Amino acid sequence: SNVPPIILNNGVEMPQLGYGVWQVPDDEAERAVATALEAGYRSIDTAAIYENEGGTGKAIAASGLPREDIFVTTKLWNSDQGYDSTLRAFDTSLAKLGLDYVDLYLIHWPLPNRGTYIDTYRAFEKLYADGRIRAIGVSNFLPEHLERLIGETSVVPAVNQIELHPFLQQHAVRAYHAEQGIATEAWSPLGQGKSLLEVPAIVAIAQKHDRTPAQIVLRWHLQIGTIVIPKSVTPSRIVENISVFDFSLDDEDLAAISALNEDRRLGPDPVAFDLG
Ligand code: NAD
Repeated sequence: SNVPPIILNNGVEMPQLGYGVWQVPDDEAERAVATALEAGYRSIDTAAIYENEGGTGKAIAASGLPREDIFVTTKLWNSDQGYDSTLRAFDTSLAKLGLDYVDLYLIHWPLPNRGTYIDTYRAFEKLYADGRIRAIGVSNFLPEHLERLIGETSVVPAVNQIELHPFLQQHAVRAYHAEQGIATEAWSPLGQGKSLLEVPAIVAIAQKHDRTPAQIVLRWHLQIGTIVIPKSVTPSRIVENISVFDFSLDDEDLAAISALNEDRRLGPDPVAFDLG
């Protein structure tokens, strides 16, 4: 595959572009992930709450690819936060995936009002020390949550996966990550495929490069250094979204996209989100 790696803070290499499977039903996940692997994706982003670790694992097994050629991320759901429950939930995820290790395990949400992410992360550290996870990290953490985590535990998270797209550019969080050596991974990188892809500035850049708006947005992410995991179940779009390594945006294009920031979330506010 021609996707370049990002080197995480423990030396592990993670493909900068992967395939996300949120909202893909388990019985469709096998075909979707198989299509992505055939298209050249070597990183898959699932989560316990997506309920498609089973289909994802089947596609990985059926691909015939060496295990070490695929980077698998899954996430611990909120209701499993806590030390012992995390260890159990990890075993369940691994069994569903049919794997004996995952490449990246993330705490899905910080749930700051519950105060359980420190104990949860200590279980992550144990699983990491035991060699069952190659890198550990978090998702939806604000700098204040990361600061507490880094102060009270030993392993600096390798990754924080956050909502990030041209409408929500996350400047403060990205600056904090850069200081701490945490890689930024963008969820909903295409803004969930809605109005973002119709913004005139993006459409104009797409016409200029003879590319699609989705490809322009993905290039913007790659060139600002974030890890991206676009989702699609449409085979032609799965291919389109990884066909972004043979052109680049110029400074003018990047500036025009950077000007679209509105600090506007499409998903939940991590401080308030407390489901599960
Ligand atoms: P996305 O920004 O990747 O958008 C996906 C949607 O955009 C698709 O459903 C489709 O409608 C459209 N689309 C995709 N490719 C397109 C193309 N080439 N042209 C036009 N439209 C296209 O949104 P997402 O699925 O929300 O996020 C991607 C991944 O991030 C998820 O699958 C999941 O793995 C992860 N995620 C994580 C969290 C978290 O809390 N950690 C939250 C949401 C998503």
